[in-house]
Amino acid sequence: MLVKVTEVEHYTDRLFRFKTERPVSFRFAAGEFTMVGIEKQNQTIPKRAYSMTSGPYDDFIEFLSIKVADGPLTSILQNIKVGDEIYVGDKPTGTLTIANLELGGNLWLLATGTGIAPYVSILRDPDLFKSFDRVNVVWTTRLISEQVCFKDLITKTASNFYSSITREESDLKGRIQHLIKDEIILKNACPSNDKIMICGSIDFNNEMKEYFNNKGWNEGNKKMAGTFVQERAFVS
Ligand SMILES: Cc1cc2nc3c(=O)[nH]c(=O)nc-3n(C[C@H](O)[C@H](O)[C@H](O)COP(=O)(O)OP(=O)(O)OC[C@H]3O[C@@H](n4cnc5c(N)ncnc54)[C@H](O)[C@@H]3O)c2cc1C
Repeated sequence: MLVKVTEVEHYTDRLFRFKTERPVSFRFAAGEFTMVGIEKQNQTIPKRAYSMTSGPYDDFIEFLSIKVADGPLTSILQNIKVGDEIYVGDKPTGTLTIANLELGGNLWLLATGTGIAPYVSILRDPDLFKSFDRVNVVWTTRLISEQVCFKDLITKTASNFYSSITREESDLKGRIQHLIKDEIILKNACPSNDKIMICGSIDFNNEMKEYFNNKGWNEGNKKMAGTFVQERAFVS
């Protein structure tokens, strides 16, 4: 479907956020993704997977996007303006949803970079805080400016927010793997009490999947809820 862009905000030379109108027929579960594209005459531009950052009940659709200098989609998508039309696929899907997790105890949302996108949607879902005793958000980016887009929103939720930076000085520094090793996060965690969601680069997802599998967590999917989930479309 083609939808009209209603808001665009740029943060860095690698990151922007945009909103569109939301047709009433567009429904999804928090954490799912859809295909996004742009149509230009005489040009074939590929559609790419994007996680919604808007909540399932919001009256807008929102996305957070990387800008890849020579990226087939984002080199063009980054120039969209309010009033333009973009393509948003009407069949959202995905495995990174609360429905695929065993409920209760602590929830840990682990993200690197734009991997925060599906968690923003999940944090906007009013059902979330009824499903877990404590919600923890762990977000690592290279730069502080890469968290401006959603830092305030996350801070205002009832979650416990660990904001970590890898390439600049900050209160908390380092990759998520190091925060786990140093017991800053997930100290004394166990599969029965700590449910994990993983979303980041392919390398990060694969590393985390191996780590949690080796420690006794089991991956959930649409058929059977588990103690950790990740977006399967991201991993090898
Ligand atoms: C399930 C799923 C959900 C996704 N959700 C999002 C999202 O919410 N926001 C988003 O920006 N992207 C998301 N992506 C990535 C997105 O589909 C595109 O890859 C991205 O928009 C770049 O498109 P492109 O055609 O310009 O470049 P591509 O040809 O797709 O990518 C070129 C290179 O850029 C790098 N790259 C691509 N995407 C990213 C990224 N997000 N962060 C860091 N490096 C990247 C990779 O090294 C890649 O090889 C998602 C991908 C999947 C599979």
